[in-house]
Amino acid sequence: MARIAFVGLGNMGRPMAANLVKADEEVTGFDLSPEACERFAGAGGEVAETAAQAAAGAEIVITMLPAGRHVSEAYLGEAGLLAAARPGTLFIDCSTIDVATARAVAAAAESAGMAMLDAPVSGGVGGAEAATLTFMVGGDEDAFTRARPILEKMGRNIVHAGGPGNGQAAKICNNMILGISMIGVSEAFVLAEKLGLDHQKLFDISSTASGQCWSLTTYCPVPGPVPTSPANRDYRPGFSAEMMLKDLRLAQDAASSSAASTPLGAEAAQVYSLFVNEGNGGVDFSGVVRFLRGEG
Ligand code: NAD
Repeated sequence: MARIAFVGLGNMGRPMAANLVKADEEVTGFDLSPEACERFAGAGGEVAETAAQAAAGAEIVITMLPAGRHVSEAYLGEAGLLAAARPGTLFIDCSTIDVATARAVAAAAESAGMAMLDAPVSGGVGGAEAATLTFMVGGDEDAFTRARPILEKMGRNIVHAGGPGNGQAAKICNNMILGISMIGVSEAFVLAEKLGLDHQKLFDISSTASGQCWSLTTYCPVPGPVPTSPANRDYRPGFSAEMMLKDLRLAQDAASSSAASTPLGAEAAQVYSLFVNEGNGGVDFSGVVRFLRGEG
């Protein structure tokens, strides 16, 4: 049994921490929101009064926070997690944040004598609840080996992507593929509609031809061909357009700071920005097909 501090008990963090409690780990949680703390206590977790207090007694500290600035604020400075923890503590940041902040915080952890991994996830709230998340992990091999048995209690696929920041790099590269491919598949269905080609016919042909991809065969953006896709439940997420836009923007920040050419990634970010600005932030990202059709 490991002593684990879990900071950030929101939509993702709470079920992840609850799975560690279920697996008989000794988990002390903290969130700035008293409501989030109460819900975690309801799932059988201990709650600390501050993040620093949770970290002080822990062997492993896991964070699941909204964005890079929250991670910097939580880790750095005199009242931060790095200052509060004992040397040798393993930090695992599961938030989806920019690569530059992930690398800066990992360097600060190393200078303070701590091991740190970035370990963003895919699989959404459903995956967090079912403990079937995929973890994309950046950091050194020893830290990865230490973290693996804990991550396995919250997820199914645990992939070591390389050095610090590479977990975040893998996450944004993957989601840039996903954003672009969802727009591509949606455009094909919109064109098919104009040409009088049936959705199911296009699906049957393209799902076994060179247009095959996850956005088509697992998450089809029109109702019918894949009964489990959000298109069949009025585009309730799933994975919201707002989250997709966040990840596409992170990819664009990384592309600009590393001088990578990603013209389609940039276009996808623009398309999702327009879609979200029309009030669709909470809609599943596959709902972009409606926007491409010109529906309000
Ligand atoms: P959320 O907003 O529900 O939860 C974040 C929690 O962090 C909130 O409860 C907030 O009060 C808390 N918080 C913020 N700053 C804090 C601090 N300094 N100390 C303690 N608590 C603090 O967000 P979420 O949906 O749980 O997402 C968390 C991360 O996971 C994000 O980076 C998101 O991009 C990523 N993610 C989310 C999903 C999803 O489907 N929700 C899927 C994959 C990845």
